[in-house]
Amino acid sequence: MTTTDQTPDAGAAADAHTVDTVIRGVTVLAPTSRPAVGYPEHPADRAAPAEFLPEHSIAISGGTIAWIRPDAEVDVEALTAAGAVIHDAPGRVAIPGMINTHTHSAMTLFRGAAEDVPTASWFNEYIWPMEVNLTDRDVRIGTQLAVAEMLLGGVTTFADHYFSMNEIARVVDEMGARALLAETYFSSQGAEGLDRSAAFAAEWNGKANGRITTALGPHAVYTVDDADLQRTADVARQIGVRSHIHASETMFQTESLLAKRGVTPIQVLHDTGMLDAGVVIGHGTGIIEDDLRWLTPFADRVGIACCSKVYQKHTHSSTPIRMLHDAGITVGIGTDGCASHNTMDMFESVRTMSLVQKDWLRDATWMTSAHALDLLTRQSAATIGREHDLGSLAPGYQADIVLIDVRKPHLHPMNDLAAALVLSVRASDVETVFVAGRKLVDDGRLTSFDLAPVMSEITEAMPRLVDRSHGTTIQTYAP
Ligand SMILES: [Zn+2]
Repeated sequence: MTTTDQTPDAGAAADAHTVDTVIRGVTVLAPTSRPAVGYPEHPADRAAPAEFLPEHSIAISGGTIAWIRPDAEVDVEALTAAGAVIHDAPGRVAIPGMINTHTHSAMTLFRGAAEDVPTASWFNEYIWPMEVNLTDRDVRIGTQLAVAEMLLGGVTTFADHYFSMNEIARVVDEMGARALLAETYFSSQGAEGLDRSAAFAAEWNGKANGRITTALGPHAVYTVDDADLQRTADVARQIGVRSHIHASETMFQTESLLAKRGVTPIQVLHDTGMLDAGVVIGHGTGIIEDDLRWLTPFADRVGIACCSKVYQKHTHSSTPIRMLHDAGITVGIGTDGCASHNTMDMFESVRTMSLVQKDWLRDATWMTSAHALDLLTRQSAATIGREHDLGSLAPGYQADIVLIDVRKPHLHPMNDLAAALVLSVRASDVETVFVAGRKLVDDGRLTSFDLAPVMSEITEAMPRLVDRSHGTTIQTYAP
């Protein structure tokens, strides 16, 4: 394949009138021809190499990708005459905007504030007492910092799960990013929690020119009871959205629920109708083989978000990706919040995932770089139900495009581009980022957002935000 062109019969001159921007001279990560949802069950497919198209041009029209062609077939003069902006980027690699499938963006505020502690202490002694201190304003500035970090690192879409979601939605709208937003709730909030999450989901779905989509945000299987999960599934179907929830985060949670009730967290999601309504599952390191019978029938609407660095740090082992892929279950990549992941860096997350997978299964041939790239792009899109318009560079897809400058010492010589993208590229190698065709990062800088005052305000707020002397908490971790 040398070109991906939706309208091969149309000449350059005919296209010229509709093209806004042409990115020229890049090496394009080609879309895979694999099925959009569910991983191919033939192991040989997993070892298929990633395909790249050198010296290609990507045309953007009205926020989507119009065509991708070899540079030699592009009439730059005609396009320029018709008003298209030419973005020359020889030597750069174009990948789809990355999709952070599970995060709590405003937790950038707690970066480094709960280190070297076990999970229960992380929640009960640090995070939940500190979250008592959060105001809407704090969430706003924490999210601005997170979105800035993500955009600068090539992350154009994030699936957020937090409080004060109206503030987060406004930030996404203002900064030009794309997000799947879910207002978090606990059963301890009574009916109000789910009602607020549902109202948010109904109000914001499709807003910001379609850049915002929504989900319901029950916190976890151990903080939201079965009756509320059942109600969540019903409301999700009524509104026409999915849910985003933490489930089987650790093997301890799975074993604990099996001991208490004889069911796993995944079975609870099944029995309450959550899987049927569609769900993004955060983590799943405690998913066991027996869970596959609950997950498999809903493989077209369930995705698991894998945030490996967090599992290594908190000794949660790993999401069982090979077992899930054998069963056709989609797995995407995420960072989780900065209080556990420390960065919003998706290159770091995919790299950790790839290394952990090899080491965990003692198999150097498993989780090839091409396979890891597939999780980072297409499968992350499928995890949030957007495989039809995100996660691939192809005509008709959203023009969420990241250009990486690979002319760097740590990327030279370039023998294996897929391996370089997974194992060597740094977030700081991201040079240009488009979201819906709009250039939000240019030459490694945000084009329309001044982060300096936000960082100052966060620094000033820090003593108040990390104060735990009030002795209260928003929730108790006791799965
Ligand atoms: Zn999380």
